[in-house]
Amino acid sequence: MNRIVAYLNKNIIGEATTDRTTLDKLKNDNSVITNKPSVAVFPRHTDDIRKTVKFCNNLAEKGKLISVCTRGYGNDHTGAAITDGAIINTTKYLNQMIDFDENQALIHVQAGIDLQSINNLVNLSKLALPLNLHNQHHSLGGLISNGLIYPFATEADNLFEIIEQLEIILPNGELLQTRRLSKRELNKMIGKTTYEANIYRQLDQLIDEHQELISRINLKKPDNYGYNNIARVKNKDGSFDLTPLFVGSQGTLGIINEAIIKLEPKPKQKLSGIMAFTDFEQAMDACDQLIKLKPTELNFFDSRIFALAKKQGNFFDYYEQLETKTGQSVRFLAFFDFNLKSKISKTTKAKKIESISKKLQAQVIFDDLEKIDSINNLSQLFDFINVKKGGVQLVNGLFVSRVQWRKMIADLAALEAKTDQTLPFYGSALTKVVNIHSSLDLSTISDRQNAIKTLEYARRMASQLDGVFCASGGEGQLKNLFAQKEIDPELAELYRKVKQIFDPNNILNSKVKQPIELKTIAKNIRTDYNNNFYD
Ligand SMILES: Cc1cc2nc3c(=O)[nH]c(=O)nc-3n(C[C@H](O)[C@H](O)[C@H](O)COP(=O)(O)OP(=O)(O)OC[C@H]3O[C@@H](n4cnc5c(N)ncnc54)[C@H](O)[C@@H]3O)c2cc1C
Repeated sequence: MNRIVAYLNKNIIGEATTDRTTLDKLKNDNSVITNKPSVAVFPRHTDDIRKTVKFCNNLAEKGKLISVCTRGYGNDHTGAAITDGAIINTTKYLNQMIDFDENQALIHVQAGIDLQSINNLVNLSKLALPLNLHNQHHSLGGLISNGLIYPFATEADNLFEIIEQLEIILPNGELLQTRRLSKRELNKMIGKTTYEANIYRQLDQLIDEHQELISRINLKKPDNYGYNNIARVKNKDGSFDLTPLFVGSQGTLGIINEAIIKLEPKPKQKLSGIMAFTDFEQAMDACDQLIKLKPTELNFFDSRIFALAKKQGNFFDYYEQLETKTGQSVRFLAFFDFNLKSKISKTTKAKKIESISKKLQAQVIFDDLEKIDSINNLSQLFDFINVKKGGVQLVNGLFVSRVQWRKMIADLAALEAKTDQTLPFYGSALTKVVNIHSSLDLSTISDRQNAIKTLEYARRMASQLDGVFCASGGEGQLKNLFAQKEIDPELAELYRKVKQIFDPNNILNSKVKQPIELKTIAKNIRTDYNNNFYD
């Protein structure tokens, strides 16, 4: 490895290192598995990434495989941001804005920039990212590659629609800029002899040969397994766009280097708050009524998440206030957020919400209504419940329709009894994406076994409830152990061919979205799990 580091340091402007402390910092993502990289690369320039992948691709052609994992902040929950090979970290240097065109509402950025910085950069304009994500620990490249639609998202948040263009670094170091090509442009492209042209040619052929199979992909349900978005590449008019394939591909097809993102007008007014309920029926009744008011976010929390956090010494003022107001124990909470046009509409909306709360004998508190930015106080709820110890990020990103939530709660209760753990969930009533916390202690063998049981149970539960196991975020390494049981073998073969077209030597995240064995996962489960890795 030292020879590789020496080569890279001679040829790139950024740094390559095998420093033990650095590698230790990069061996975990937010999943329960671990993999220590052999080398870490901190590129300062596009060419640094190009040279690194080209070098690894050449080595792979000679039979030496070094998997290349591009990593943002490493929030991934599925072991897709870790590798035993080379980590390329984009957040250290490749985190800049390149251009901002206010008239066209477009921002051109490097992949390592975080979402909060984008909003800060355009703050003086009337524009903002059209995503309800407030965390500074999401790189844009990671977010797109993960295909995230997590609970703090609105029904309208659609990653495909916010991307104008991506610049991709291919495994041989060539650059590819995505955009929708007309049928004529596609024909011109596939007549060329470059790596890029080869991808277009082979993929076009693959799609044409598997039209019936691709038509079986149900785009109405969010599903990030494999390369489902192949169904969005070729339109009926013959036009062709590779962009959707990179959404949710978890760094396995190409490296996102830059992106042009569409911005939207900032909401003039925001109204957000929390409603507390003593039982599930009351919570669901409120949900039905709140949805009619067209919120931009509507997230439900099993209050035991707060109990778990409290046990770790984390207090959340709003929750304490609601408990006092309710006068008995709060069982569920709903967080809501509205984008509004005027102060008048905000007051009217607040009154309607208060009346819903009163009718249902629930309790409500509103966030500080004066400042738009105060929404962050509530939206950082996730950071708050992201408890340091005791709460394991085990089962995330399921899609379960709301009519099935009652059954899901009963199923989770049965699993709690079987595995002696608490499994509070939180989910979005708009996207129906559900995350489940776990209180397992991974330092014990029995709870490590329970972690595997829990994931398998969740996979089966999602399937029986007509839901999706890998709806938000991909399958990575961890979820793939279970998700591969769900997949139609013909589709699995199609996805294998997609990967082969982009990355024939399998250098990009080589263990991610690939068949994996239980023993590999079991060996890598972290015994020291806590999710405070970016503190
Ligand atoms: C409430 C909440 C719910 C969440 N739910 C989920 C969930 O269900 N599933 C889940 O996995 N995560 C989930 N996350 C984690 C997190 O949102 C995403 O992983 C994060 O947005 C990605 O940003 P990152 O910089 O941490 O990316 P990383 O974790 O560093 O990377 C994510 C993936 O993208 C790839 N990648 C990163 N940068 C690039 C690039 N430039 N080019 C190509 N590939 C790249 C990585 O290899 C990896 O596969 C959740 C987070 C929150 C706060």
